Amino acid sequence: MSSAPDLKSRLDAVRRQIAQACAQFDRDPKSVNLLAVSKTKPTADIASAIKAGQRDFGENYLQEALEKIEIITPRPVWHFIGAIQSNKTRPIAEHFDWVHTLASAKHARRLNDARPPGLPPLKVLIQVNISNEESKAGVSAADARALAVAVSGFDRLQLRGLMAIPKIEDDFEAQRVHFRHLAELGQDIRHALDADAMVDLSMGMSGDMEAAIAEGATWLRVGTAIFGPREK
Ligand SMILES: *Cc1c(COP(=O)(O)O)cnc(C)c1O
Repeated sequence: MSSAPDLKSRLDAVRRQIAQACAQFDRDPKSVNLLAVSKTKPTADIASAIKAGQRDFGENYLQEALEKIEIITPRPVWHFIGAIQSNKTRPIAEHFDWVHTLASAKHARRLNDARPPGLPPLKVLIQVNISNEESKAGVSAADARALAVAVSGFDRLQLRGLMAIPKIEDDFEAQRVHFRHLAELGQDIRHALDADAMVDLSMGMSGDMEAAIAEGATWLRVGTAIFGPREK
């Protein structure tokens, strides 16, 4: 567990890094949101981050997430960013505000059907395997549009955009290429579907935030730079 002052200073450093990249790449800082990825980290760290003004948190492992969601008050905005299993769509639909990792029409239907009527539509992003890696989850770029069409037909889901975890590259320009492909794909689909709400690009992590900002990220998913290295 990190001490609260450490956590606040790391969060402030990340915010400065984002602000600098926004200035450098001519982005409106208000359009770049920080998702704090708190997987494997204790609830005390999340509470410290909330105290330091952090509003959005991302979790990968459902059981761990549900335990945290139940305990932590005031309730932040919760984003599911892990692998979706068909038999776990109901708790995801019931307890999260956003899902970044939607990659099948079947899961879309299940999330839609399980979204409680008292809650606003679940905000979803389609995960795209943008660098065509065999090991990576997500639909191919070629299949993303068809899934977007399917998602648009569900009234308990709100399609917000695309998400990707590109191939890891050390070189800044090489990082940008993958993010640019996701941004272009998002734009193509938005125009084809006339989907005005489809404005989000969830891309960029601790190691490639600047390149993602340069290419239009609206959600940076940042774990290590905020919470420190993970043990698991
Ligand atoms: C763990 C994780 C992150 C955060 O990665 P860091 O390198 O720790 O910033 C972002 N996105 C997803 C989908 C993750 O699983």
